[in-house]
Amino acid sequence: MPSAVAPFDRAIALACTVQTLRGRSLYVRCRCLTSTVWPVRLLLKRDSSVQTRTLADMIVFLRCSTCGGAVADVVEMVGGVVSGS
Ligand SMILES: [Zn+2]
Repeated sequence: MPSAVAPFDRAIALACTVQTLRGRSLYVRCRCLTSTVWPVRLLLKRDSSVQTRTLADMIVFLRCSTCGGAVADVVEMVGGVVSGS
């Protein structure tokens, strides 16, 4: 497994499985303009069966921390896992 972090490409990231992205964190943005950091591994904690799903499948389950609405888009992906649970 390569350890280098590839430059963020939104289309590629959405096609990757949750398992592939488990060490990454996503910056997602809601229509209310709130940005939220989502460690991908939190999706795995919720339900281990999601690991073979693509990020495109899972993004619809992400919710904004401010308004509770569905997030509108993934704006960035980072390699490090944000600490805390
Ligand atoms: Zn919102």
